[in-house]
Amino acid sequence: MRIAIVGSGAMGSLFGGLLAESGNEVYLLDIWKEHIETINKNGLWIEGLSGDRFIKIKAVTEPKDIGGTSDLIIIFVKSYHTESAAKNISLLVGESTSILTLQNGLGNFETLSDIFGLEKVIAGTTSYGATLLGPGRVRHAGIGATTIGELDGKITTRTEKIARVLTQAGIETGVSNNVLGLVWSKLLVNVGINALGVLLKIKNGELIKGKYSLKLQRELVEEALEIAEKKGIKLIHQDMVKEVASICEKTSVNINSMLQDVLKKRKTEIDFINGAIVREGEKLNLSTPVNQVITDLIKAIEEAYKKQI
Ligand code: NAD
Repeated sequence: MRIAIVGSGAMGSLFGGLLAESGNEVYLLDIWKEHIETINKNGLWIEGLSGDRFIKIKAVTEPKDIGGTSDLIIIFVKSYHTESAAKNISLLVGESTSILTLQNGLGNFETLSDIFGLEKVIAGTTSYGATLLGPGRVRHAGIGATTIGELDGKITTRTEKIARVLTQAGIETGVSNNVLGLVWSKLLVNVGINALGVLLKIKNGELIKGKYSLKLQRELVEEALEIAEKKGIKLIHQDMVKEVASICEKTSVNINSMLQDVLKKRKTEIDFINGAIVREGEKLNLSTPVNQVITDLIKAIEEAYKKQI
């Protein structure tokens, strides 16, 4: 398969590297010049769970250097870059191109569908994890389920084919007829963990040990649950509040990705996680006071990066 990875940071490099190793024609696209130049000079270094090695792979900073359309485009920019990245890749999109998002948060498949049309876009979630170590170097840090699906719930030959290609690359992938439920279920997990972890500066496991942090987590998730229910989303767990707490336990030593961003004074995906719950609530006339306050607090922290003592 001819595959372009748009946004080849931690996750994009990992997926791109694994897909290239299993024999696909893969192009890593990223605007980070030093990273791309290092990959073209030395290869892509992946270390960690799938082994330590250099992978030979083509990397570019401009879509035109890929030279034509792709069968599959995987979007792995942060959610706040999805729109600008998508608007730059029309050269890669042909009649039979599928565009897959496995990003976290809400709003990515909507943005991609607005730009390319609903029928081009496939969504999904992944429990794979990766960390960027430096230009040209990533660590494969997590392995878990990856699931993809059509937005209209149909099981199609193209989703089955893409799942097969990913599985052959070692990324065990299933196809779901309820991808919206999957995306929302993962969203609710992020809603209950990420921003709270930032404000308290603690690892996932500690979030469920405090009386007040547990109370706040429940309130964050319950507000989001009300919205999901009103939208008719079929979540994949019966009790999402319990599920979020159980994920905290299972990933007790993890520093969540938003906390990692804040520790490095980087922009967070808050607008696409708790902020998305606030926006969806406004559309439905449902108030989300806890998500509103936590979104504002994270945005205030981002604003204060340069002034912090
Ligand atoms: P990252 O910051 O490591 O990588 C994003 C890359 O996108 C960067 O290298 C950046 O230079 C590039 N980029 C920005 N604008 C671009 C543009 N216009 N065109 C091309 N490239 C552009 O982020 P990440 O950790 O790989 O996360 C990507 C997405 O995957 C996020 O939505 C994240 O929540 C999700 N995710 C991450 C993990 C993880 O373990 N890192 C796990 C699951 C899901």
